[in-house]
Amino acid sequence: MSFEQIKQLDHQYVMQSYGRFDVAIDHGKGATLWDVEGKEYIDFTSGIGVCSLGYGDEEWAKSIYDQALKLGHISNLFYSEPYIKAAQKLCERTGMSNAFFANSGAESNEGMIKLARKYSFDRYGKGRGTVITLNKSFHGRTITTLAATGQDVFHNYFFPFTEGFRHADANDMDSLESVAGHDVCAVMMELVQGEGGVLPLDAGFVQKVAALCAERDWLLLIDEVQTGVGRTGSLFAFQQYGIQPDVVSFAKGIAGGLPFGGIMANEKCAGVFTPATHATTFGGNPIAAAAACTVLDRLDDDMLAQVKEKGAYLREQIEALNLPCLGATRGMGLMIGIEVKGEKTNKELAAKLIANGLLCLTAGPGLRLLPPLTITKEEMDKGIAIMKQTLSAI
Ligand SMILES: *Cc1c(COP(=O)(O)O)cnc(C)c1O
Repeated sequence: MSFEQIKQLDHQYVMQSYGRFDVAIDHGKGATLWDVEGKEYIDFTSGIGVCSLGYGDEEWAKSIYDQALKLGHISNLFYSEPYIKAAQKLCERTGMSNAFFANSGAESNEGMIKLARKYSFDRYGKGRGTVITLNKSFHGRTITTLAATGQDVFHNYFFPFTEGFRHADANDMDSLESVAGHDVCAVMMELVQGEGGVLPLDAGFVQKVAALCAERDWLLLIDEVQTGVGRTGSLFAFQQYGIQPDVVSFAKGIAGGLPFGGIMANEKCAGVFTPATHATTFGGNPIAAAAACTVLDRLDDDMLAQVKEKGAYLREQIEALNLPCLGATRGMGLMIGIEVKGEKTNKELAAKLIANGLLCLTAGPGLRLLPPLTITKEEMDKGIAIMKQTLSAI
């Protein structure tokens, strides 16, 4: 099919809930993609932080193929080895106690919120179900995770939203204290706010929140759907913040491109979910779990150190371009935000870069880069060259 045919059929048969860019990607290798007409793109997006090992990774594909031939699905009513292996790998490397697997970020966060409310209900009874989240956060697109999301633009159309969420300003303990109350059971936050604009929280603030949570027996819920699984240069971002969450959620990059996600709980919260209190048909699917095991094995200390080096290199190179339309960079590891200055919006800049062969994302008012963790120096340099050539005149 030609691009024009694909686009026409998309508009005819697909709900138009995405403002898509004018590209139909066909295949990829490493951090390089080709569209249906054979044009090449350097990928600074990895989906949205999903394809952690890039495209066409042989080992990843083989683990999927082998598991699909062996057992493609089994109900969670039965034990299954890939599920247990993935959970063990995650717990052993994070100090968390146990895991529950789901299929997406929003669904994982729903599980995390349910766990917090049940923890509180078991100890204190009704009336203590409120979760404090941060302004500029993003926690998902279900009715409940939209309510959790601290951005007014998401609180439209779909009333009534789930009750029991209050929002505080990031890096501001006074703001957090001002929304606290006897009805609170948890604080939920991203350590680097992704969709909000790649905004890393201050470590001091995060540690104070952790201390307050411990003092009041609120659960500390960390949404690592975007920051988790190597993205920031450690397996999870919380490992660089000097805290241990009560529950942490993850999804996007965990299975390198297959739908997978979940939560891990610490010892205090490990027994909250009991039979029939939380479940999913597909969550923990053996094929996705096998892919997750491959991703986790590949993310050894050497690879994580490289993520930090590559992130620093990309930021240096971008800042050295001194482009008039771009300001400072920020972020952690290969999760990078770039400030946008001047007349053009971030969406306009992204569209120009994409048209010239560099896929990138927007977040808040800036640009956002989430390249595959396996991106090579050569691919990064190609991407930077496209940036220079495209944005110099703007
Ligand atoms: C993407 C994202 C989500 C939602 O994940 P889905 O898989 O799209 O449901 C939740 N939280 C954060 C921090 C995210 O970046």
